[in-house]
Amino acid sequence: MSGAGPRDLSLAHVAGLHAYTPGLQPSGPGWVKLNTNECPYPPSPRVAEAVASEVGGDGASLRLYPDPTSSALRAAVARLHGLDAVRVCIGNGSDDILNLLVRCFCGPGAPAAFTQPSYSLYPVLVGIQDGAVTRIPLDRGMRLPVEKIAASGARIFFLTSPNAPTGVAFPNTDIRALLDAFPGILVVDEAYAPFARENAVGLLASHPNLVIVRTLSKAYALAGIRVGYALANPEVIGLLDRVRDSYNVSRLSQTAAIAALGDPGYYAGIVAKISATRDYYAGSWREKKGWFTFPSEANFICTEPRDGAGRTGLAVARSAYDFLFSRKVLVRHFPSDALTASFLRISVGSDDEMLVLDESLDAWLKEPPNA
Ligand SMILES: *Cc1c(COP(=O)(O)O)cnc(C)c1O
Repeated sequence: MSGAGPRDLSLAHVAGLHAYTPGLQPSGPGWVKLNTNECPYPPSPRVAEAVASEVGGDGASLRLYPDPTSSALRAAVARLHGLDAVRVCIGNGSDDILNLLVRCFCGPGAPAAFTQPSYSLYPVLVGIQDGAVTRIPLDRGMRLPVEKIAASGARIFFLTSPNAPTGVAFPNTDIRALLDAFPGILVVDEAYAPFARENAVGLLASHPNLVIVRTLSKAYALAGIRVGYALANPEVIGLLDRVRDSYNVSRLSQTAAIAALGDPGYYAGIVAKISATRDYYAGSWREKKGWFTFPSEANFICTEPRDGAGRTGLAVARSAYDFLFSRKVLVRHFPSDALTASFLRISVGSDDEMLVLDESLDAWLKEPPNA
């Protein structure tokens, strides 16, 4: 007897889903890894100390479930931003928070929208909920199309600011105009805000439909522990708490995050260093190489390589990517998006890593251009 198989039994929209494509995580040694915007410097030394002390000699504390609401971490995040703890929800990475937002506000009949380009996880999450997606295109000027977003009919709009993969930040004046014009939930994904000149936290008090999403993966050098959070109106936080896993953040993750937030001086130092390295190389590629390079307020640079024959385009970007790859320098290329297909997104690394990268780009420029 042959019954229906698992695929036939799955929900129709699930069978057609495509999983998110993460950047490569190479396992061998010797790579200069500039493809997923991780921090080139270690986290605060307080993190390893706190985790070791939480584990203790025999790991006995690990028998016990973590605090289901991450209450001490909520309080620490609230203090950091000068907000009340009822305005904070902690996630297993900010991807978890984005997923909770989609669960609450998106599904059949409740469409989502975002700019093109922006973070490529959003359509994947919306697809899981069987929601419809509207993409609002940006051009090289990177002005926020406030009117178009306001008229999009979306229940929820995801705005990445500073944007990925361009690094361009949208000014608060535009975000305020959007909040006044758009009737849905506005999520500002501020994964890179610590590297930016301004952020939208000050707009929370006056705008109940604003949700800000942050992560400890980038500026806090803790991508491996998976902690992110939402800042929002208490009503929104209450909704997120209804749909999240009850123990969504592990004991060691909560401990590590609290220790990191307790060392702001350390992080001010590495954020300043990364921002200075970014500005140096972005300026150098723009001026010395003559490459169009977006003004970045993030920990990466989005630049358009121009080959030895003066050409740009998808094939040129791919050629540079492949050349770097052959030298074990890993960057990111997004060939499927028309606006960014001719660009490479390069995470800001340590001084040594950036030197290897820049010398490799110069070596690529000296290659005979392929016909
Ligand atoms: C890296 C990134 C995230 C994911 O952060 P995690 O906390 O590691 O899940 C979210 N949004 C944007 C725009 C990112 O670049």
